Amino acid sequence: MSNSFKSVKALLPPPAPHLVGDGFRVHNFFPSYDIIGEQGMDPFFLLDYNSPWTLPPSDHLRGVGVHPHRGFETVTIAYHGSLAHHDSAGNSGVIHEGDVQWMTAGSGVLHKEYHEKEFSKKGGIFQVVQLWVNLPQKFKMTHPRYQPIERKNMGQAALDDGSSVIEVISGEYNGVRGPALTYSPVYLYNARLTKGANAFLSFDRNYNTGLLVIEGEVEINGSVNAPHDNFAFFDHNGETIALKAILDSVVLVMSGEPIREPIASRGPFVMNTGEEIKQAYNDYFSGKFGHLED
Ligand code: MN
Repeated sequence: MSNSFKSVKALLPPPAPHLVGDGFRVHNFFPSYDIIGEQGMDPFFLLDYNSPWTLPPSDHLRGVGVHPHRGFETVTIAYHGSLAHHDSAGNSGVIHEGDVQWMTAGSGVLHKEYHEKEFSKKGGIFQVVQLWVNLPQKFKMTHPRYQPIERKNMGQAALDDGSSVIEVISGEYNGVRGPALTYSPVYLYNARLTKGANAFLSFDRNYNTGLLVIEGEVEINGSVNAPHDNFAFFDHNGETIALKAILDSVVLVMSGEPIREPIASRGPFVMNTGEEIKQAYNDYFSGKFGHLED
């Protein structure tokens, strides 16, 4: 392992939240933060973080109604609470606590995303991440695909302290591979660290890399303390990230090879040109994304 640290370029507190539908109260770290923008975390395009939100029991299912996507992938990670989804291809399912859904919108899907019924009835803490992973131009119109990834099927790399683990969702850590198939090199981990544990991560220095502290607090590279709900955005000056858990912590780590293609994005579409965005709206309004009941 290289000894050169990837330094923290910015430690970003959660921006003011906004509602997505009535079911997601999210802090948008990127593209909203100027220092990251649309290209700074390429191939990751968007990070919406629903920080812990305590909900009363309800018979009403909070969520987002039918909407389209094209040109990228949505990766939804449930940390507390659970979600249900349905799409125009007839797929449906539940993302339970700890699980991930990796959806390739590709050429286009209509879907709706809701709090799961039993969770809504009981109420409780809801904490979810949605990450948009861009697709290289040659895969933007690929067939839609779902990868439901249960926590138990993630790669499990045990750390030296005997209780901490790097859960590998995609890519690999110390030879342990994650189950998610990706269209470009994408590394996504949950580092579940017990207080006092040390973890060393290593990524290509050209990759764009960041981490979101979901729970607890970690010290990065012996110098930066990142509390929960903060996002650390890394520079390209090294390969290694050293984490030390100040408290019992859960950290979502992401790193990927930049696609380095032009981006044209509007609403639920991420394409390469304005013409393709126009085409996406035309296809959507003319029913080419299929049909889904609200
Ligand atoms: Mn969606």
